[in-house]
Amino acid sequence: MKAWEENIRRVVPYVPGEQPKEDKLIKLNTNENPYPPAPGVQKALREMNYDTFRKYPDPAVSGLVNELARWYQVQPEQVFVGVGSDDVLAMAFLTFFNSKKPVLFPDITYSFYKVWAELFQIPYETPKLDEKFQICREDYYKENGGVIFPNPNAPTGLVQPLEFVEDILNHNQDVVVIVDEAYIDFGGESALALLDKYENLLVVQTFSKSRSMAGMRIGYAIGSPALIRALHDVKYSYNSYTMNMPSQVLGVAALRDEAYFKETVRKIITTREKAKVRLRELGFVFPDSSTNFIFARHPQCSAEKIFLALKEQKIFVRYFKQDRLSEYLRITIGTDEEMEALFTFLEKFVNVR
Ligand code: PMP
Repeated sequence: MKAWEENIRRVVPYVPGEQPKEDKLIKLNTNENPYPPAPGVQKALREMNYDTFRKYPDPAVSGLVNELARWYQVQPEQVFVGVGSDDVLAMAFLTFFNSKKPVLFPDITYSFYKVWAELFQIPYETPKLDEKFQICREDYYKENGGVIFPNPNAPTGLVQPLEFVEDILNHNQDVVVIVDEAYIDFGGESALALLDKYENLLVVQTFSKSRSMAGMRIGYAIGSPALIRALHDVKYSYNSYTMNMPSQVLGVAALRDEAYFKETVRKIITTREKAKVRLRELGFVFPDSSTNFIFARHPQCSAEKIFLALKEQKIFVRYFKQDRLSEYLRITIGTDEEMEALFTFLEKFVNVR
């Protein structure tokens, strides 16, 4: 090894789902929304004045912050916006997890948490989910340097009731508790209802799933003004102009179309519930999803074989070759037609074996 190489930080990066280049495929592997963004977003895009690209964007993202504050009926001082919730979560790790005690998150969860903890050299522990993939609340009663978990959890799809989230908060009043609600619009009750009671609570959400805007990279956190101020201080110590101008403008347009948002979320939930019935008929078993994906296994069929066979048909689902997960496929809910194509193939595959 050369001397300069010794000073390079070595990390194992997060591996995102595949983004194949071809057009004609059914993409059920990265929990994207199968429907386009709200029509108001297209209109705002058409009307955008490209001359404004000369200028730096608003570093405070005020337009979007104010619109989010209105939507959630909080103060603008309680809102932080970032480039996707990944950016918001990374900033939150950097800002709030500075203890020598370990940060706690489940062993099976969003795999980026571990990557940020390693990158920022934050000690962490990963209490095991039980055999039904449930988070054991007692694991989060011990001393720690902070707590983070997604609700609903990913990739299991399981949601916890608000009472459970409040119990975790009750037992962790001396550290920051982050609830990652990337999928909350598809089921479950948001921890936003607890904001008034717990100033150490940070709720993180995204436009990537329920608002069909993964490509625009818009995420946000809502919490007490003290938490949001701390996040801003770290952000401005790192990069002031994170969110580009089009994302700021189009994010506002997406929020203004409430009817479209509700309708697409409703369609996805309906398709998901139908998918549960079909998958059960085919012999799949899965935790009961409250998200826009289903984490399923087939007791008689290898998940890896199904994954590869589907890929040959240009149907992409997500497969994790990892301990405790390798028997499962994570299937994003697509349109009814896309799901029908999936089931038609699975019917043949599962029965022919
Ligand atoms: N949290 C969870 C639990 C996720 O599954 C994802 C999607 N990969 C994210 C956060 C990040 O999403 P985004 O950066 O697109 O907002």
